[in-house]
Amino acid sequence: MLFDDPEFHETIASVLVPVAVPKAYTYKVPAGQSVVPGTIVKVPLGPREVIGAVWDGEPDAAINPNKLKSISRVYDTTPPLDEDLRRFVDWVANWTLGAPGMVLRMVLRSEEALEPEAPVAGVRRIEDAEPDRMTPARGRVLATMEDGFAWTKSGLSHAAGVSASVIDGLIKQNVLEVVSMPASPPLPKPQIDYAQKSLTPAQTAASEGLIESFDKGGSVTLIDGVTGSGKTEVYFEAIAEALRRGRQALVLLPEIALTEQFLRRFEQRFGVFPAEWHSEITPKNRSRVWRGVASGDVRVVIGARSSLFLPFRELGLIIVDEEHDAAFKQDDRVPYSARDMAVVRGHISRFPVILASATPSVESHVNAELGRYSLLELPERASGAELPELQAIDMRHEGPERGRWLAPGLVTAIKETFAQGDQSLLFLNRRGYAPLTLCRTCGHRFQCAHCSAWLVEHRFQKKLVCHHCGHFEKVPDACPTCQSANSLVACGPGVERIAEEVSDMFPQARTLILSSDLPGGPERLKREMKIVEEGGADIVIGTQLVAKGHNFPKMKLVGVIDADLGLAHGDPRAAEKTFQLLAQVTGRAGRVTGGGRGFLQTYNADHPVIKALLSSNKNAFYQAEIEARRVAGLPPFGRLAAVIVSGPDKAFAEHYARALARSAPADQAVTLLGPAEAALAMVRGRYRYRLLTMAPRQFDLQSFLRHWLGNGPKPSKGLRVQVDVDPQHFL
Ligand code: ADP
Ligand code: ZN
Ligand code: ZN
Repeated sequence: MLFDDPEFHETIASVLVPVAVPKAYTYKVPAGQSVVPGTIVKVPLGPREVIGAVWDGEPDAAINPNKLKSISRVYDTTPPLDEDLRRFVDWVANWTLGAPGMVLRMVLRSEEALEPEAPVAGVRRIEDAEPDRMTPARGRVLATMEDGFAWTKSGLSHAAGVSASVIDGLIKQNVLEVVSMPASPPLPKPQIDYAQKSLTPAQTAASEGLIESFDKGGSVTLIDGVTGSGKTEVYFEAIAEALRRGRQALVLLPEIALTEQFLRRFEQRFGVFPAEWHSEITPKNRSRVWRGVASGDVRVVIGARSSLFLPFRELGLIIVDEEHDAAFKQDDRVPYSARDMAVVRGHISRFPVILASATPSVESHVNAELGRYSLLELPERASGAELPELQAIDMRHEGPERGRWLAPGLVTAIKETFAQGDQSLLFLNRRGYAPLTLCRTCGHRFQCAHCSAWLVEHRFQKKLVCHHCGHFEKVPDACPTCQSANSLVACGPGVERIAEEVSDMFPQARTLILSSDLPGGPERLKREMKIVEEGGADIVIGTQLVAKGHNFPKMKLVGVIDADLGLAHGDPRAAEKTFQLLAQVTGRAGRVTGGGRGFLQTYNADHPVIKALLSSNKNAFYQAEIEARRVAGLPPFGRLAAVIVSGPDKAFAEHYARALARSAPADQAVTLLGPAEAALAMVRGRYRYRLLTMAPRQFDLQSFLRHWLGNGPKPSKGLRVQVDVDPQHFL
């Protein structure tokens, strides 16, 4: 807020700066400038300048004005951040125990976006001017320019099929003049009634439910629909409604690799592409989208979790697709759940939020049961195709021979599927060739020097890679401990190793690995997803990336190589996550035409998760899981927050973690567990200890944590304390 001091005729303002401090700082407003809460400014901070925003709350008038620094720049071409967005930033900071400035930093990510886009040079016809001599090339240029609009030189030379020198010649003769034109042409708007599919009766009912939710102000709706039921088609109608009401819409997806298919489907429905926002877009596009969202030119954004912090001018709908997905949780810097914060943003601005999934999170399921969220169910596939038939392969009795990973039963099924010209998907949530490499002679195991993790062999890249810190080394010729040559063996499979086995067995089949870390990055992945979609591969080997939302019409068989992989963790969500992942991935089979089959290779055929998957009794699984959480007081019935202490010295970090635990205020409502050495005991050279607090749902855990950490022993140099409210994993 502003404060006018009549004595000094100087104005001061609170400015939130993008650093980890608890509140806004006070700055002088330069004479002749005016700011309001939300105005974006540049201010000096220590030795540098940073971008911040004028914030609500009184500036500190007690500071000697001579000691105050001045705002160095006011960005007045960008609209101020509106009150709802400021409240949202404060809310997220308060919930995550993060610094509000660090949350604001997620809003002001692109400094370039604050500058108006530089115009580009163009040429325009000068009325009635004629060249001294007409040539066919000149004729083509003038004919192309008949509409009277300005063209860029390169656009014009391309359209008229002439070289740049022809255009330069016409400029010299004063037939064309150089003008400046906006760098990006205005964006075409989505057309509400461009091409609406005729919906099935169940879909119509669901879309009507969504449209009604716009009049309820801040309501949340969960669409629980089986894979292929048309959830996307249904929420497109909600987007149409938001557009009809003059509002912007945001769709959050958990995985960039999903956007390509989504963009095409959106274009088929609305006639234009939506704007994209994720880590892979170019800086230029990033700035354009940011500006367009703020000005209102961009009407629909499809993005990763960070798009939640875009400065929408009139946001009126958020959709979180695959809402159960762990990718919506950010773990570093400000740990937040984009799904939960989307609900908060809708609540603050009183607009509807839609969560969609075939396997909702237990939290959302309970919220729907308790009536906090409306529930819309789509129990059948749009095509009418039945869900795939699933069966377990008991690896204790029906497993493959040593050194092989595909059981004979699965191999037979792949053979049959291939013979019919259909696609198979082999799913293994492990990148690389093998998760562990050891020396046959001395037993040496390759471990990361900076993390407590094995190095994973990536055979295509001829490297051993740490999946936690990215450290890699060349695969050596001899064992580094005993110097034996040809003594290294790969233990266990990754997708590359499965692909090798498949190529061995099916040399005639076209095989493809879909994994996020292969050379070529997201572009290659997009291409390959499209190849699979169009039937250009027979056998696909993929990591969890393929489990998410894709529509592969020719996919008939899904084989899960290791169904037990996720169950081993001591993580309270292990059962839920495994169920979701395997239900999603097997749901890829027979989506359009039916007749899909799924095989789960397992050593635990009696595990409740495996049994629930086989019996397709989703409801029984959820009821059992919900009951178990209720009894244990786990989310959503209780609340969890993790406190992670890390430091370069092991004994010092442990000592501090113990002292911190001892300093916790006694409160009967709170159970404090730990400190315990983290499962990932070292990451990037830092030793890690975890504490976990548990409390009933109604308990204000944030206040407790704030009080505790604010009054406990301060972490000295090198130590770091990170709070993770609602942790999603416990590594
Ligand atoms: P979900 O998101 O529930 O997995 P999708 O919306 O992706 O389902 O739909 C699955 C497939 O069925 C898509 O190819 C989609 O175009 C098609 N589809 C869904 N509903 C209809 C409909 N009413 N008419 C025609 N095709 C539909
Ligand atoms: Zn050795
Ligand atoms: Zn590492």
